[in-house]
Amino acid sequence: MEIIGWVGTTLVIIAYGPQIYHLWAARCAWGVSLWMWSIWLVSSTFLLTYSWFRSEMLFVIVQCVNILAIAATILLTRRSNQICPYHRGVTRDKSGE
Ligand SMILES: [Zn+2]
Repeated sequence: MEIIGWVGTTLVIIAYGPQIYHLWAARCAWGVSLWMWSIWLVSSTFLLTYSWFRSEMLFVIVQCVNILAIAATILLTRRSNQICPYHRGVTRDKSGE
């Protein structure tokens, strides 16, 4: 049964990949809400504390992964200083220019 938990943990790591890579490589934070990620960071900290006191080691690991990925997202978003060509195109399409 534990394999299900590890598959879930692996998918959490994979899910963050494209966003963090885009922030890192393109320095583009288009569509990233710092407010939402900050709430997520607080939420993960609470869930980490809860899992720790319940001795749920799998969830402790998942929340540690979450906190690291969220912190990386927030730091890279604050560092980002441009909109990549792809997202410039998306912005232009939506405004109808
Ligand atoms: Zn972009």
